[in-house]
Amino acid sequence: MLLIPCPHCGPRNSSEFRYAGEGRGRPDVTTTTRAQWRSYLYERRNVAGEVRESWYHTFGCRRFFTVDRDTVSNAIRPVAAVEGGPRGAENEVVADSVQGSPA
Ligand SMILES: [Zn+2]
Repeated sequence: MLLIPCPHCGPRNSSEFRYAGEGRGRPDVTTTTRAQWRSYLYERRNVAGEVRESWYHTFGCRRFFTVDRDTVSNAIRPVAAVEGGPRGAENEVVADSVQGSPA
């Protein structure tokens, strides 16, 4: 079982959440080339190690938030609550480390 630390509800089973992708910044649409925009939309880094991710608490508070997850060990560290969407970094909430164990 993987426990995901929702900043609003506390640690919950991963079955309550929807993965919303890598938490990377959206490029500026006024200055971005087509190649950069295509890369932002379709290319993922697929890192073996720590990755910043966005999650949505589907069966809880129904809010987006960001965590740092080690894709090898599934250790999760909460980073930020995100209001209004999965890509921003506003309203940062720093919380204590929470460990998830691989399923
Ligand atoms: Zn929640």
